[in-house]
Amino acid sequence: MDGMIEQISNRLYQVTLFPKITGFDNFICAWVHKGSPSFVVDPGPSATSRQLLKALQDLNILHLDYILITHIHIDHAGAVSELADVFPDAKIVCHPAGIPHLKDPSRLWEGSLKTLGDIGKAYGPILPVAGERLVDAEGFNADNIISILTPGHSPHHASYEFGDHLFAGEAGGVFEQQSPDSFYLRPATPPRFFLNVSINSIDLLMGRDPTTICYGHYGVTHDAKEMLAKHRDQLLLWNRIMGEEIGNFHEKEFVRTCMDRLLKDDPLLQGFFRLDADQKEREIFFLTNSIRGFALSLTDSTDNA
Ligand SMILES: [Zn+2]
Repeated sequence: MDGMIEQISNRLYQVTLFPKITGFDNFICAWVHKGSPSFVVDPGPSATSRQLLKALQDLNILHLDYILITHIHIDHAGAVSELADVFPDAKIVCHPAGIPHLKDPSRLWEGSLKTLGDIGKAYGPILPVAGERLVDAEGFNADNIISILTPGHSPHHASYEFGDHLFAGEAGGVFEQQSPDSFYLRPATPPRFFLNVSINSIDLLMGRDPTTICYGHYGVTHDAKEMLAKHRDQLLLWNRIMGEEIGNFHEKEFVRTCMDRLLKDDPLLQGFFRLDADQKEREIFFLTNSIRGFALSLTDSTDNA
């Protein structure tokens, strides 16, 4: 299978990557900017590194200035080593908390297998990169690329601004355009999630006045600020609904009950019902993780109170 190249604007491409997992066909992408500077945002899983390299060849990209990592999860950073080998001049920019894991990904790989199981296996193991290739994203500002540290989805999450484009990773949720006027947007809040940290990150991104938001999953919209505001409201709605349910945290059906309520009451999740069966299965897996993350953060705050 080849990666699927879509031209987004003059020099920007979305390369869709196809890991061998049912329901994951239009879910994972790398963002590629050809020109000066030339860069890739999130090389994707190691299992699809050949698809990405083939796409870069088809785009006649012979040089990369940067590999920008939004976060070190193996569906985003997994192919970093394979890409770095082929493009020896590329600097790899990553949140400082992620850098040690790129140098030595053994614990990251173990953790990924534990969290993701067979999905993790299908993404494939992430390989180490040499320390001298790595650049701290904190304060990074070069060639019109500005990094913004946006912890929330993970503690080592960064977003990248380039002109009026924002490469937001999962800081603005998980997105899917379903028709010209309908989309699906889901919080990506696995444990350890902290609502205030996520909200602060969204506020930082909105403060940059972006026009175009390029999602880590999946696709692009040109009303970036409005989409970020919608996601911010969505997190607050989840907080209210989950807060009402949290008293039943120890019930066996807790996650199921929360999921039913969220799918009923969250307007941005309504696209779930338009997904096909395999995609629904994928989303139930990730919704479960997001609900767990939210619930644990709520139980923490009651414990501390
Ligand atoms: Zn992801």
